[in-house]
Amino acid sequence: MAGALYLHVPFCARKCAYCDFASWATAANDPLMTRYARTLLSQLDEVASLGLLADCKTAYIGGGTPSLLGEKALGALVSAVRKVAPEMDELTCEANPDSLDDGVLLSLREAGATRLSIGVQSLDDGELAELGRLHDATCARVRVRAAVASGLDVSVDLMCATPGQTDESWARTLEDVASLGVGHVSVYPLQIEEGTALEARYADDACAWNDDEVQAARMTQAQVTLEGHGYSRYEVASYSVPGKACCHNKAYWTGVSYLGLGTGASGMLSLDEYLRLRVVAPQLPLPPRESVRARLTVASDRRALVEDSRLSTLSFSLEFLSEPQAVAEDLMLGARLVEGLDPELVSRARALFGGRLDGTIEGLLASGLLAERGGRLAPTQRGWLLGNELYGALWDLAPSEVATARC
Ligand code: SF4
Repeated sequence: MAGALYLHVPFCARKCAYCDFASWATAANDPLMTRYARTLLSQLDEVASLGLLADCKTAYIGGGTPSLLGEKALGALVSAVRKVAPEMDELTCEANPDSLDDGVLLSLREAGATRLSIGVQSLDDGELAELGRLHDATCARVRVRAAVASGLDVSVDLMCATPGQTDESWARTLEDVASLGVGHVSVYPLQIEEGTALEARYADDACAWNDDEVQAARMTQAQVTLEGHGYSRYEVASYSVPGKACCHNKAYWTGVSYLGLGTGASGMLSLDEYLRLRVVAPQLPLPPRESVRARLTVASDRRALVEDSRLSTLSFSLEFLSEPQAVAEDLMLGARLVEGLDPELVSRARALFGGRLDGTIEGLLASGLLAERGGRLAPTQRGWLLGNELYGALWDLAPSEVATARC
């Protein structure tokens, strides 16, 4: 049954300038948030009644800003996840520094969260203001230190190639973060997304600060600095000290099935798991005959979810993958990992794609996007920097269009 669980909390105190995630600015006292949290509790009970979470090992409460729910509602959510998934090893909650007060930290700890992922993005006040973040660098440092002191495993998200960032300010942020005692750091280049305030602000600007070369240089700078402080890169954007890699994210990259609940949440289920979910959500269409995997995204908005929490009333957008498509997807996701592709997965791909796989691999080796390391095919630095080329070539092994549906 599903190996991982994702819960989406779509509320934020304010919309950041670059953000196109499923999140909406919401007043701290808006009763919608408590009602939404109750909806998730009820949906958790429904999926648990199917046995879908019996073997679930990791959970991630993401957003949005889950810490905005406050200690009571967030604590109840974490406790409920613990109850319905007794085999859980890792339970992460996302937070922003400005809403991560001591009450939230204590409640997360007591309810059974093991890990906290904090959206810091930068430790430069000017850069934070450009990004439209609510916290300043001092607030971020204080709240990250408090989180580390609480005993939770702490991860910090950082963003590079942002407006106003320089090599020097990025170096200061990296050094500063490395001194805070966190076990995990994720680093992403800023993407200028359509329809965001940032895109509008820089519509007539070449945005040289976000060039591919700048992104590549800053990602390399992060690698050098973080590795110099004892972190190892285990995925294109992820660094950890020994034993602190994020098991939940690794599940996404290694073909483990996961269930997503909440507005905009995505899940990936095996055919058996999908058919089991249909018992309580009969609106889900029967999959095409050759499907082995279903990708589901909850399309109901947050208000619809609150009005009626039953899974049978949800709207979904769906993709159904055949076995060759699922294997191509696993190859593509596996190429994000430093350890590279599981040889067993490569054997399955060879059985399905034959000479086409060998041709693709030869091409990727020749262009320096993949290399052989420790008996495995693994991405190179160049492969990560030209990620779209690498992942695209592996995905192109999939023979035809993915079947889609809505309900
Ligand atoms: S806190 Fe995160 S989810 Fe919320 S608006 Fe900012 S980037 Fe988006």
